[in-house]
Amino acid sequence: MITTNIKRMKNHINGEWVDSNGTEVEEVINPATGKIIAYVPLSLKLDVDQAVQAAHNSYQAWSLVPVPSRARLLYKYLLLLQEQKEQLAEIITMENGKTLKDARGEVQRGIEVVEIATAAPTLMMGEALPGIADGIDGSIWRYPLGVVAGITPFNFPMMVPLWMFPLAIACGNTFVLKASERTPILAEKLVELFYESGFPKGVLNLVHGAKDVVNGLLESDDIKAISFVGSEPVAKHVYQTGTASGKRVQALAGAKNHAVVLADCHLEKSVQGIIGAAFGSSGERCMACSVVAVADEIADEFMDLLVSETRKLKTGEGRSEDNFVGPLIREVHKNRVLDYIDSGVKEGAALLVDGRNPGVEEGYYVGATIFDHVKPDMKIWQDEIFAPVLSVVRVKDLDEGIKLTNQSRFANGAVIYTASGKSVQQFRDKIDAGMIGVNVNVPAPMAFFSFAGNKASFYGDLGTNGKDGVQFYTRKKVVTERWF
Ligand code: NAD
Repeated sequence: MITTNIKRMKNHINGEWVDSNGTEVEEVINPATGKIIAYVPLSLKLDVDQAVQAAHNSYQAWSLVPVPSRARLLYKYLLLLQEQKEQLAEIITMENGKTLKDARGEVQRGIEVVEIATAAPTLMMGEALPGIADGIDGSIWRYPLGVVAGITPFNFPMMVPLWMFPLAIACGNTFVLKASERTPILAEKLVELFYESGFPKGVLNLVHGAKDVVNGLLESDDIKAISFVGSEPVAKHVYQTGTASGKRVQALAGAKNHAVVLADCHLEKSVQGIIGAAFGSSGERCMACSVVAVADEIADEFMDLLVSETRKLKTGEGRSEDNFVGPLIREVHKNRVLDYIDSGVKEGAALLVDGRNPGVEEGYYVGATIFDHVKPDMKIWQDEIFAPVLSVVRVKDLDEGIKLTNQSRFANGAVIYTASGKSVQQFRDKIDAGMIGVNVNVPAPMAFFSFAGNKASFYGDLGTNGKDGVQFYTRKKVVTERWF
């Protein structure tokens, strides 16, 4: 129960902020201080049904708005988001904990997806081939699906919702968003600015809550497609349940991203890059580097530099420009991470940088942590820890690095550090990962390319963003026509 005057958040249904029908709330906590900053309602199936009804009612008219007019509204939205960049970054830092620098990066990446969505008139074009037979023409036309839902994680409160609703809405769909209950405040801001841009009511709806909202969306017959981003077990559940009832589902899941460092790499740049990829955003990125396979030949020199540079990183609240590693999202997550570090020690890995006591009084901090001599049968090698914990294995050569990486059950991103084009070719062809970096530390594709992993990192066929995103949010009709 709420005992103070801290804000209880509202859902946004049919163009208005409304109270949830549920009485339960969850605390929204600033992870840098451990203090409550809002209460988010744990909405009910009834709230979901009301939001879906509103989206359903507005669909007919919205889908008939000419595509260039839809794109123009998104262009206004883009301008408002650009104007508010700094405020948006501050909200991210407050509710997620990541440093302002990382938050500004996220804001930029989110805005880039809206830029792509403004190109809907081009992206939605079909194809045509005259003269497929005597007097007959063939063509493909794209149409929206109807009501689409999006379910998002805590780690990118701005970018991930923006992977979903701008493109879906540009394609003529209407939308119900279920943001992470741990970072719901930025979602509220996204909705506020969306309606300030002039969109008709009911086109975008926001229902706060946790698994009951997700299950409500899965049960709704009026929802035609679901975009999900989050942990692997929930992604699998959403994919299996959603597709079983005939919905289109794209479910982007957990990860364990590997880097292979070859003897001919640029040592200093590789080390700096790996530090950014492993410890930036406190390792709470689906594209974070969490395992490095380094060639024996340079392993000692590489480790010396990696360890000495990592020891310079400061841990503390994200608003201070001095700090590199911010807090983890919740205390329970911090304790889970500490258990992983203990397990690494017990299983015999060498703990070279120990972040267990970073010396920050309040909040949920674990400093940058490095294990050397990790083996693939250790839990720290296998599981997604989602924290600034980096495991290093030593390998004979590229072949062994690739073989080892491909043993992972996840296959989101993988990076190679080398000066050899031949090694890059081999890596690209043999590595199992959806997104590959060549001397690029976090190879998250730009918004005009699609974003998705392989194996247990992705359930579905079409990734988010780019042409895949447009295909996901549209259905096709193939017309074969003859005129007399
Ligand atoms: P999470 O799975 O806990 O939550 C994601 C969403 O699912 C939230 O909206 C949450 O309310 C809902 N949810 C949680 N438990 C549920 C349940 N039992 N039933 C139904 N719904 C449930 O994920 P998180 O901790 O918020 O985010 C971190 C995870 O997301 C990491 O595993 C990370 O790798 C992954 N992620 C993946 C990508 C990608 O592109 N592959 C991008 C960002 C994050």
